[in-house]
Amino acid sequence: MKKTAEVIIIGGGISGCTIAYNLSKENVDTVLVEKGSLASGATGRSGSMIWNIWGTDPDKELAKLGLSSTRKFAELEEELGYDIEYTPSDYLTIVTPEEEEHYRKAMAITQKNLGLHIEYLKPDEIKKIAPYIDVDNNPVVGAYHLCNHRINAGANPFYTVEALITNAKRAGAKIYTDTEVTDIEVENGKIEGILTTKGKIKTHTVINAAGAWSSDVAKMAGIKIPTMPYRDEAFVTEPLMHLPYLAERGDIWWRQEKNGQIIAGEETHIIRKPEYNAAASLGPLQRPIHTIQQYIPQLGNVNILRHWGGFEDVTPDKLPIVGEVDELKGLILACGCDGFGFSFSQAHGKLITDLIVRQEKSKVMEYFNLRRFARKYREYTGRWYDWP
Ligand SMILES: Cc1cc2nc3c(=O)[nH]c(=O)nc-3n(C[C@H](O)[C@H](O)[C@H](O)COP(=O)(O)OP(=O)(O)OC[C@H]3O[C@@H](n4cnc5c(N)ncnc54)[C@H](O)[C@@H]3O)c2cc1C
Repeated sequence: MKKTAEVIIIGGGISGCTIAYNLSKENVDTVLVEKGSLASGATGRSGSMIWNIWGTDPDKELAKLGLSSTRKFAELEEELGYDIEYTPSDYLTIVTPEEEEHYRKAMAITQKNLGLHIEYLKPDEIKKIAPYIDVDNNPVVGAYHLCNHRINAGANPFYTVEALITNAKRAGAKIYTDTEVTDIEVENGKIEGILTTKGKIKTHTVINAAGAWSSDVAKMAGIKIPTMPYRDEAFVTEPLMHLPYLAERGDIWWRQEKNGQIIAGEETHIIRKPEYNAAASLGPLQRPIHTIQQYIPQLGNVNILRHWGGFEDVTPDKLPIVGEVDELKGLILACGCDGFGFSFSQAHGKLITDLIVRQEKSKVMEYFNLRRFARKYREYTGRWYDWP
């Protein structure tokens, strides 16, 4: 094991691996330490949709972050020289009468923030482009349609991580898997190194990309950060015919992989307590399955091949935490990504590399800094969803 490094990244998920690739490409002496295998955290359990926040909470800075990440993903296969099963898809969000007003507002703001044209389709127009979506027997008043923008896509998370790390290693990065970071040494308000189960490495810069464990890692350096692990679940079907559009609906998500399999799930953590429990249960499968069958009846008898659980690191405002920690020089955060960490990873890689290599603190990164949270959040021990 190396004895010193300019930068140490803790966590070998999509965030840590992307940052390792970007830093090593810039000749930064980089070490990545992962307690299990690469992608063994949320990354390998993700739906790996590369999506932009639209139709939900269109926030200007978040939209910028999402868009820059999506654009980078579109170039990644060529840049890394790897097939990561990148699959761009057009986007169709079905709207029911009670959601119409909300979505119209969201669409207007998102169009403005992303500078994209989003089309509103009437039920008859939906039938023309996606006749397999049953708009006659569902309360559908229309749909938002976004095509040819390449802002939504998917990729295989294992191949993506492997491609990034192969390239990072080629550029000189050292990767230690099955190696847990047990402590971070701090002296006189400055990071001096890390202790691991395989030895000590000296450094003045540590990047916390430990996903749902990020608050435990920050605590090693005496810093409290408001991230909590919330469980989420997903499943994958047998390969199906290619469907140009899947009818997006609310908090249920799905995408079709390159080989035709549908990977789907529902955001369930709102009903759960934070815990490191990745067990899969049948309950959360019911609603996405029912919704898929309801909107695409011909998928009624599809076989589910695999079902799994994982956890996401969730912050009080459900936005990521990126950048420096004011109270401790040398600690940099790249965590708190909720259900969007795969999507945002390429933007994080660039922001953090610009910070370390060029001392650039972009406006977007400063917007997501830890300092936005008041102490009450950083001290809180309950559930974010019970927050008074
Ligand atoms: C079911 C499910 C579906 C999802 N779907 C999507 C989706 O479609 N699109 C999307 O954008 N996002 C999705 N997400 C969220 C996404 O998976 C995460 O936001 C993202 O993978 C986080 O990546 P990460 O690198 O920050 O964390 P992780 O992948 O969790 O990596 C953190 C790593 O740190 C390691 N680690 C922790 N502590 C230590 C330590 N002390 N020492 C060494 N190593 C340590 C862990 O072992 C882990 O491998 C989904 C998540 C789940 C659970």
